[in-house]
Amino acid sequence: MTTRFRGITVREGLVFAGPAGWGEFCPFTEYDDAEAAPWLAAALEAANEGWPAPVRERVPVNCIVPAVGPERARALVAASGCSTAKVKVADEPGSLPADLERVAAVRDALGPGGAVRVDANARWAVDEAVTAIRALDRAAGGLEYVEQPCVTVDELAAVRRRVDVRIAADESIRRAEDPLRVAVAEAADVAVLKCAPLGGVRRALAVAQACGLPCIVSSALETSVGLAAEIALAAALPQLDFACGLGTGALLRADVVATADELRPVDGWLPVLRTAPEPVRRTEVAADPERTRWWIERFARVSARLSAPPAG
Ligand SMILES: [Mg+2]
Repeated sequence: MTTRFRGITVREGLVFAGPAGWGEFCPFTEYDDAEAAPWLAAALEAANEGWPAPVRERVPVNCIVPAVGPERARALVAASGCSTAKVKVADEPGSLPADLERVAAVRDALGPGGAVRVDANARWAVDEAVTAIRALDRAAGGLEYVEQPCVTVDELAAVRRRVDVRIAADESIRRAEDPLRVAVAEAADVAVLKCAPLGGVRRALAVAQACGLPCIVSSALETSVGLAAEIALAAALPQLDFACGLGTGALLRADVVATADELRPVDGWLPVLRTAPEPVRRTEVAADPERTRWWIERFARVSARLSAPPAG
């Protein structure tokens, strides 16, 4: 990784080829085999079947503004070429005054036609969220949505009843049944989907349809092999009203594909493409023998779990 993100500095995964192309199996290393199973289903779909036909040729993405000062925030937005910015807020207790400054700077950089969304990564309590969202909405001259203000689905629903800003559920959606749960609880206006933890593009599309919420697609910090699957999901959603969180390739110091094939946004858009590793780059990023063995064993265990008949 170029910077520490989600508490990690090294992103590990396993890429493999099948008749339809390359798949990436990259559940985070702390996940157990049960949690890793849908990630393998997604990788096998990519390698063995490929993806449903896209309904759009390119996908809009947001730029990411971490908890930085207003000047840096302005520069990040201007350099990205994106018309939607996702601003991290609530990074630490008492951060609201700095969050307000950052959000105002982002609006200034985007202009009135841009969209500003914030992501609190579940850091607020309900009352705190309501106060912060109202203030941030004013400072931003209107927020597109607030991503995961609180931890639980009930808290999201409570906040949603008290503010006029849309609520998006991200951390609340990790398993295929979660979006439905969020929709039934009237806890969110937008669902953030990732095809890897949901078990593939087809499963994720079915989940999107079942929950009935507008969806955006976000990455799981994949290389350009796995990102292609997330982009395929975004490209196949019948309706895509918001920019996606798929411009994460730059968070990786190295990729497995040739530089020219790296899936990086240009002026806020990503192309819908399949990718394959480039042999030299694959060698450059190869894990040491011990980690390689760990991943191959993990792959074998999770494969056995996927092909086993359900218990009972
Ligand atoms: Mg989020």
